[in-house]
Amino acid sequence: MTIFAAYLYCSRKTMALHIITSVQEMHNYASVLRADGKTIGFVPTMGYLHEGHAALIRHSCLKADITVVSVFVNPTQFGPNEDFLRYPRDFERDCHIAENAGALVMYAPSVEEMYPSGYSSMVLAGKESQVFDGIARPGHFNGVVTVVTKLFNAVKPHFAVFGQKDYQQTLVVKRLVMDLNFDIQIIIAPTEREPNGLARSSRNVYLSEHDRENAAMIYKALTAAADARHQGEKNAHMLQTIMQNILMTIPHVHIEYAQTAHAETLTEIIDFDDDDSIVFLVAIRLGTTRLIDNLIWHP
Ligand code: AMP
Repeated sequence: MTIFAAYLYCSRKTMALHIITSVQEMHNYASVLRADGKTIGFVPTMGYLHEGHAALIRHSCLKADITVVSVFVNPTQFGPNEDFLRYPRDFERDCHIAENAGALVMYAPSVEEMYPSGYSSMVLAGKESQVFDGIARPGHFNGVVTVVTKLFNAVKPHFAVFGQKDYQQTLVVKRLVMDLNFDIQIIIAPTEREPNGLARSSRNVYLSEHDRENAAMIYKALTAAADARHQGEKNAHMLQTIMQNILMTIPHVHIEYAQTAHAETLTEIIDFDDDDSIVFLVAIRLGTTRLIDNLIWHP
C-alpha cells in the first residue's frame, strides 16, 4: 500500500470528508483508489445541496467503496442572461450534507482551476441536446458535456449518478458516454419532491412561500397528463393541452414548454402507439426563476 493510500484509509476510518480543490490532486487520489481496487461512485452537482442531491449520494454509497461528490457552478453551461453570478452557494453546508449522506470526497475546483487562462476546448453535445432546453438555452448542453467530461477525467469513476429531475441532461450524458466510449456506468435516480409535489431544486430558494405553493401545479399538470394517457389518450396535442390548462392557473406564469416526447429518443410524436414510453416535460418561469420538471409514463 502506498503512503498516499495509507493516508486515505486513515481518513476513511474517521469518516472525515476529504476536500480536494486541484485537478492534479483529484487525478492522484482517484488513481490510488483504482490501483487499490476500490469502486468509485460519482455525484456531480452545482452545490447548494438538498435532499435530491443527498438521495443521489446515498444511492452511490450503496454500490461504491468511495463516493466522490463534486460542487462546481459551471460557467460554460450558463447563458449570458442567466443566473450564474447569483446561483446560490454555501460550501460549508454542502460539505455537511454530502458527508451525512455518506460521501468521502468532496471535489470542489475553482473556475480558474477548471478553465485556466488559455482554455479553449469544448465538447459538442449529441442529438438529444437539440430540442427543449437545447433550444431554450443555446449552448447549455455543450457546457454540460464539457464539464462532465472534465470531471469524469479527473474523478475516474466506475459509475456516476444523475437525477431524473434533469431528464434531457440524463439522455445527453448517456449519449456522451456512449459516443466518446467512456467506461463509466450512468445511473439515473428518481426525482425527490417536496411534500406538495414540487421537485426539489437549488433554485427553489429564489421562490417566495407563495410561489412554492403555486409551483406545485407543475407536478399536478404532469400527473394529470399521465393519468389521461393511462385512461387511453394518445394524442400529443390533447396531452399537452391538459398540462397547459393546469399551468395557466399559476399567477404570472410564463410557460416555456409543456410537451410530450418519446421517452427514449426525445422525438416528438403526434399520436403515441400503445407501447410507446412517454416523457412529459415542463419548463416555466415564475418571475426570474426558471423551473423544469418531468414525468415518465411507461406502457
Ligand atoms: P444540480 O446541482 O442542480 O446541477 O444537480 C446535480 C444533480 O442532482 C443532477 O444529476 C440533478 O439531476 C440531480 N438533482 C437535482 N435535483 C434533484 C431532485 N429533486 N431529485 C433527484 N435528483 C436531483
